[in-house]
Amino acid sequence: MAAELKKLSESRDLTRIERIGAHSHIRGLGLDSSFEPRLSSEGMVGQQPARKAAGIILQLIRDGNIAGRAVLLAGQPGTGKTAIAMGIAKSLGQETPFANVSASELFSLEISRTEALTQAFRKAIGVRIKEEAEIIEGEVVEIVIDRPASGSGGAGGGDSKSASKTGKLTMKTTDMETVYELGGKMIEALGKEKVQSGDVIALDKASGKVTKLGRSIGRSRDYDAMGPQTKFIRCPEGELQKRKEVVHCVTLHEIDVINSRTQGFLALFTGDTGEIRAEVREQIDSKVAEWREEGKADIIPGVLFIDEVHMLDIECFSFLNRALENEMAPILVIATNRGITTIRGTNYRSPHGIPADFLDRLLIISTQPYSEEEIGKILDIRCDEEDVEMSKDAKVLLTKIGVETSLRYAIHLITAAALACQKRKGKVVEMVDISRVYQLFLDVKRSTQYLMEYQNQYMFSEVPRETEGDE
Ligand code: ATP
Repeated sequence: MAAELKKLSESRDLTRIERIGAHSHIRGLGLDSSFEPRLSSEGMVGQQPARKAAGIILQLIRDGNIAGRAVLLAGQPGTGKTAIAMGIAKSLGQETPFANVSASELFSLEISRTEALTQAFRKAIGVRIKEEAEIIEGEVVEIVIDRPASGSGGAGGGDSKSASKTGKLTMKTTDMETVYELGGKMIEALGKEKVQSGDVIALDKASGKVTKLGRSIGRSRDYDAMGPQTKFIRCPEGELQKRKEVVHCVTLHEIDVINSRTQGFLALFTGDTGEIRAEVREQIDSKVAEWREEGKADIIPGVLFIDEVHMLDIECFSFLNRALENEMAPILVIATNRGITTIRGTNYRSPHGIPADFLDRLLIISTQPYSEEEIGKILDIRCDEEDVEMSKDAKVLLTKIGVETSLRYAIHLITAAALACQKRKGKVVEMVDISRVYQLFLDVKRSTQYLMEYQNQYMFSEVPRETEGDE
């Protein structure tokens, strides 16, 4: 399994090269050292009371005092509920897993709802696995030998050598014998001592004794005084230090998938993970517990964000109630934009469509609509994020559109307007581009108006009725 985990963590490093997503500009909660929200920081703008409350949650998480509870973000659409959940995850550290599911997704998968929820939970639990250092065959290791090029006892073996004016002999080598001889012994001998790049190490070939000499050993005759058997190695940029411990960060779900499918980790990319048997999970849990005891692995509880939580049914809520009790449970953050509504799967109505026993576990944070200035700032940040240059007037117009329609609609217009600008061979997005895409793409209000006017021309159109219930 180690090889698969390695492949997996390497491919995760690749996917970590952030794509531009709806929330890719969010890098944290934008709080200062005393957990007070800054006006605009780490991609976050406004929404101060909610961000302050999220900061307290962050402290509770860090102090390990959140077990058995969950956080509910309640507020109108587009008021930054997902952004705040993302901010919490980012503030917990780069390695903290963030799993984001929409409650309605759980109903559309080909697996049971509880299986889908279990997978979501395990996607939000990270495992940091530490591995012993190893030097991989064929890898290029750069070794700089601090010895006059003309002096005796130069480097043995190597693919390329070059003598610089200062008399240092630089050697890049793929010759494994040399790597093991110099690098391997050095790591072995200096295992506990911190080696920094630029440090000079002396290796006595006969005895295999390795000594750390510090940044330099002085004049060239000092080199010779140490005898021809001695090789001097200058640590390459952080390389050897890094090799001392290799850390893989994966999620429990990824380990589950690797062990449950014949195609191994590739199933993660196809998304075709299917149901995972309970025995597989039990085995993995006990293996991870073993690694933890041996000091080989740590658990990193992440953040599981469930949006549209009013779409969960009573069965899912009882599952969540139980799952929160688990000692490895991630921090559960849920969000809804509904008020009092029916609990799915029952005839009862309750706040946010959440049963009373689950509501009791929640720390509730409400989000408020944004002011014009805040909308303007968020749009500014999004323009930077999407690498779109926009004139001042165009930004003012886009902000007005954001106020009149919705923040999300205005954000969507940025990329579209940039394309319109490109088409007319412009460099900076101007008001014309904004008005062009505003005419091309309807917002909800105009779309509804259009439907009201032309509904007779649509199939199955119905004359507006009094609203019946909430759904
Ligand atoms: P819904 O109820 O429809 O799910 P939401 O409350 O989760 O909406 P988001 O998706 O978080 O809203 O916000 C819409 C967009 O605005 C996202 O791109 C988000 O990153 C951005 N955004 C929202 N609030 C902020 C904020 N305070 N600072 C920076 N960006 C924000």
